[in-house]
Amino acid sequence: MTMQPTLFEGSKRLVYDDAIELTLQSMQAYGPEHENWGIAWSGGKDSSATLTLIIHLIDVGKLKPPKSLTVFYADTRLELPPLAIAAERIMEQLAARGIRCEVVRAPLDKRFMVYILGRGVPPPNNNTLRWCTRQIKIDPMAAALEARINEFDGKILMITGVREGESAIRDKRITMSCGKDGAECGQGWYQEVLPNAKGIRGRIATLAPLLHWRVCNIWDWLRIYAPMIEYGGWFTAAIADAYGGDEAEEKNARTGCAGCPLASKDMALDTIVAMPAWSHLAPLKRLKPLWRKLREPENRLRKAGLERLKNGSVAANPQRMGPLTFEARLMGLETVLSIQAECNAEAIRLGRPLLDILNPEEEERIRELIAAETWPQGWDGDEPTADTPMDTIFADGSVQPLFL
Ligand code: SF4
Repeated sequence: MTMQPTLFEGSKRLVYDDAIELTLQSMQAYGPEHENWGIAWSGGKDSSATLTLIIHLIDVGKLKPPKSLTVFYADTRLELPPLAIAAERIMEQLAARGIRCEVVRAPLDKRFMVYILGRGVPPPNNNTLRWCTRQIKIDPMAAALEARINEFDGKILMITGVREGESAIRDKRITMSCGKDGAECGQGWYQEVLPNAKGIRGRIATLAPLLHWRVCNIWDWLRIYAPMIEYGGWFTAAIADAYGGDEAEEKNARTGCAGCPLASKDMALDTIVAMPAWSHLAPLKRLKPLWRKLREPENRLRKAGLERLKNGSVAANPQRMGPLTFEARLMGLETVLSIQAECNAEAIRLGRPLLDILNPEEEERIRELIAAETWPQGWDGDEPTADTPMDTIFADGSVQPLFL
């Protein structure tokens, strides 16, 4: 980014580079068509840059303010702690400006930990069972939006932090973000899936005004410009630091939940725990292996044979692996609790903020669901564990006996 704030005849003059000018143009073109705007904010680098820049442009009169502006902060309950803390501070800054900010969370039973450890649904993976983004981000966002839209007539313009860089724009390629390095999980879904969500279909338009920004534009804005009083004095430098400070430009880390089972590497978490100020969070590194372990056959049930579905047809995948056993869920719960306790014992010793990935309400609900012997839909709990040797049954009903 080449912009340089300059002092011009004693008064401060704001200078914007081409990337910001293009953002401004797209906001000026599409913004006035809508009276009500919303900003989908995950606390990650792209959506934080989007949020703070749009508000700055309104603050300095470059952008006509909408009739209403609502910021929707997506809180998965698994946010990386430095990002969660930066988000808290930015929310205070939004409140001081009188901007409405809603914290959007999944209902208790649908939250990541409760769904896995209480209900017994296996941790998500990239292949067969990718339920998390929709459940902990998109559906709660759609519900919050629906409630907000119902407060006024007409549509809402939802501004997202989707960013693809220049080459992708040339290729007209917008991906779903979740599986891509450098992207914020969920942003692409906000752009592509949200407009068609039940209850709000036809009532939202989406705009990604930083679509063309390169990652270096993002770092410059978050680290250098946004924190300056004349650009808003935002608490965004901590976000860039959380991605690796001066090396952040090189790293281009993907953000999402701590210990995300779908990311190939825990890059953002690795970067954070490598910093002395956050090294006490190292036990969080055990989350990803925990999710992997819980997916293993000895921790799950399996259908013994052909499965008859409600409509009378036969399921395509006989002997599929299913939910977590109660023992596995309790083991998972104890592991998560001990990870949190270890982090917090060190946090207290060092005078650092406490980690909160599993609160007492969530723990109680998990124990309640286990005590009530809850199984996901389609499972009774009397199925064998998935490591039980059994004949192989094929979709056409043919059987290959087990040879012992
Ligand atoms: S970051 Fe990972 S765990 Fe979190 S919603 Fe996205 S894919 Fe799921």
